[in-house]
Amino acid sequence: MVCKWMPIIVADRCTGCGLCVDACGPKSLAMVDGIAVLTLPDTCGSEEHCIAACRDEAIQMAWLPLSGDRTVGRWSDGAEPRPVPCSDAAQDGNGSSAQ
Ligand code: SF4
Repeated sequence: MVCKWMPIIVADRCTGCGLCVDACGPKSLAMVDGIAVLTLPDTCGSEEHCIAACRDEAIQMAWLPLSGDRTVGRWSDGAEPRPVPCSDAAQDGNGSSAQ
């Protein structure tokens, strides 16, 4: 399975401040119903600027299943370590999680 290194937003911790959205250069994140959501995973550069911006520790990075342009962001075909197992991180596919 091919995965990309991308943010997961823990909805229970997100306060909706929007700092991560502002910090995301390629505008991969957006506010949806007051919670940050990875709406454009294809544009994510895997640079973790959103994590640095979040004051509430509401974002964690994980290898998430995705197909697309492998020249944008960090990708793994299984060769790299996966802090969150790729299959476990599939969740609802939009980068948010209620964990
Ligand atoms: S910076 Fe953190 S708390 Fe603020 S909107 Fe983003 S995920 Fe939510």
